[in-house]
Amino acid sequence: MATQRTLSIIKPDATRRNLTGAINQRFEEAGLAIVAQRRVRLTEEQARAFYAVHRERAFYDDLCAFMTSGPVVVQVLEGESAVEANRTIMGATNPANADPGTIRAAFGESVEANSVHGSDSAENAAIEIAFFFAETDIVG
Ligand code: ADP
Ligand code: MG
Repeated sequence: MATQRTLSIIKPDATRRNLTGAINQRFEEAGLAIVAQRRVRLTEEQARAFYAVHRERAFYDDLCAFMTSGPVVVQVLEGESAVEANRTIMGATNPANADPGTIRAAFGESVEANSVHGSDSAENAAIEIAFFFAETDIVG
């Protein structure tokens, strides 16, 4: 696998607890470079569009309310096999099931407020990166 990019979001539960730097340190220590980053407050419309793949799920409305409840940090991570590498660093969706040493095990509050989002495939990474960033915003 070659160098790859993935979309990461530091979620409102983490920005509220001032964990942006602690989370970014984990990416950098694992060899992922933060090649684009912006702190934003998502609109309801943005959250619903970003998570549209989950619109039939029971948790969709709650998830969109949570994602708009405070600032998030949207970012592009770059490195070797970045999509899979970031999923490993993040840990399982439910922090209770996340491996020790992962971001979600360390910081996640619940299956919903689990501190970080990470793209789940190279194809979705490209779509999700384009959702937030122009190519000229990304400096590798
Ligand atoms: P992941 O973020 O690990 O890729 P999913 O794509 O399945 O997980 O879900 C997207 C997000 O929706 C999760 O990160 C979490 O914030 C929320 N979520 C997932 N499952 C549940 C659930 N059972 N109850 C509440 N929120 C959930
Ligand atoms: Mg997902």
